[in-house]
Amino acid sequence: MINPRTLDQVVIVGGGSAGWMTAAALSRLIGNGHTKITLIESEAIGIVGVGEATIPPIRHFNELLGLDERDFLRATQGTIKTAIEFVDWTRPGHTYLHPFGTYGADMNAVKFHQYWLKLRQLGQAEAFGEYNLCDVAARQNRFGPVARDRQSPVSSLHWAYHFDASLYARHLRRYAEQRGVQRIEGKVVDVHQRPEDGFIASVEMESGDRITGDLFVDCSGFRGLLIEQTLKSGFEDWTHWLPCNRAIAVSSASAGELTPFTRSTARDAGWQWRIPLQHRIGSGFVYSADHLSEDEATSVLLDNLDGEPLNTPKPIRFTTGRRKQAWIKNCVAIGLASGFLEPLESTSIHITQAGISRLMALFPDKDFDPAGITEYNRQAEYLYRHIRDFIVLHYHANERHGVPLWDHCRNMAIPETLQRKLDLFRLKGRLFRYEDELFAESSWHAVLLGQNVMPDGYDPLVDAAPEDRIIDAFRQMHQAVAGAVASMPKHQTFIDQHCRAAMTAPPA
Ligand SMILES: Cc1cc2nc3c(=O)[nH]c(=O)nc-3n(C[C@H](O)[C@H](O)[C@H](O)COP(=O)(O)OP(=O)(O)OC[C@H]3O[C@@H](n4cnc5c(N)ncnc54)[C@H](O)[C@@H]3O)c2cc1C
Repeated sequence: MINPRTLDQVVIVGGGSAGWMTAAALSRLIGNGHTKITLIESEAIGIVGVGEATIPPIRHFNELLGLDERDFLRATQGTIKTAIEFVDWTRPGHTYLHPFGTYGADMNAVKFHQYWLKLRQLGQAEAFGEYNLCDVAARQNRFGPVARDRQSPVSSLHWAYHFDASLYARHLRRYAEQRGVQRIEGKVVDVHQRPEDGFIASVEMESGDRITGDLFVDCSGFRGLLIEQTLKSGFEDWTHWLPCNRAIAVSSASAGELTPFTRSTARDAGWQWRIPLQHRIGSGFVYSADHLSEDEATSVLLDNLDGEPLNTPKPIRFTTGRRKQAWIKNCVAIGLASGFLEPLESTSIHITQAGISRLMALFPDKDFDPAGITEYNRQAEYLYRHIRDFIVLHYHANERHGVPLWDHCRNMAIPETLQRKLDLFRLKGRLFRYEDELFAESSWHAVLLGQNVMPDGYDPLVDAAPEDRIIDAFRQMHQAVAGAVASMPKHQTFIDQHCRAAMTAPPA
């Protein structure tokens, strides 16, 4: 028997990746046969249509849905991602990787990187990335399974995907519709609230139809049709820390060897992404409109493509920040409707995924328990602030002297939470991961050391271990990583053998 407080109707407004990810997850998880799910989208309005690089937790989301990895890669023209390569970020001519997975192995309860800091001073350490499997594999364009030996640093192979975001939404649409999600095509032109408490009662379509619901999920993109235009959440603007506010995106023909990493190249007024898919390369230039015009930005982008452009460059405007409340009354904003942080660390789709997981963990009944809503908003804010700090670090820790955008970012006051992390790290390389922070210590180490934030010292406990033993352990770790990578196939071979898509995209 169904509890009378159980929701009867969930309405999702928006059919970009956020809308269809939400619909797919809800169709899988609210399997009580009672709650109906409706998704409204407007082809005339369309989707933002960029967002092609992800981080490893996407694999958990796909697993939750029961998607087969190789089918998914075929359906989305997907490739593997094990790292981001940052070119010219520290200073022109310098390159480092932020790989997934860990570096080396901790010893005697002391962190690996602490020993590395000491050996580096002694001239006895390889480059930091040499001890990370994903880093070394990415630089050799390799990817494939490795033996899982938990004692060995080579067991830490982590990966995510590059994929065509429109094809992903289409794949999930098929999935959700097969599980009973009803799709309505058309524009929402009005939103009706209950007079007694302001809860959303229905949305009105251009056709005049009214779609009623108990819970409304706002996946309408930047406009925030329900959460902002109707419920006036308010927006916390972080442009003063992250001044880029425009992007231009374009696809180009594939060129060169298929890399298993996203490339991010710093430019004077922003940075350019390069995301290799099976059938094309996705590129884009994220920049600050205070430092460059749209025409100039388009030229910079087109002058720096690997292959011929395949479409007209698409300009996108955005404001960096977050909705002050992602959940108000019976409306939850997921995806771009909840806020936006530039794609430097490929986190937007993850923020969507995290919003869906949080919604499932705090799934309401018709009472809409205020404590659950408060907790949802607390966790959403925490995630946004943590990712913001990590992205700000990339801009702030730069040696690109004499370039206005970069001089500003190096000299600006940074969020207090980031300042605390930096101060602690600069002394003795210490860094702590609080609560459920998304980026692990290894990610912070990659970017801090990659951008030449070298601590003044190292953990004194390191000196308790005999130097020759550390040197020997490091040699073994280095050899283990190199050996494991040598046994991996090329990324292109892996794709060709296991998940090569058809030459044309599958029909809708
Ligand atoms: C420049 C840029 C680069 C990015 N790169 C990455 C990346 O590499 N990795 C990553 O994880 N993320 C990235 N993102 C973010 C990613 O694009 C989004 O997270 C993702 O596309 C989800 O968007 P969305 O579904 O929230 O919004 P949208 O795609 O904008 O979808 C909004 C939906 O709402 C519908 N809608 C709106 N108004 C109405 C209405 N009145 N009536 C009916 N329907 C309506 C639209 O039709 C559409 O279906 C990037 C974003 C930008 C801007």
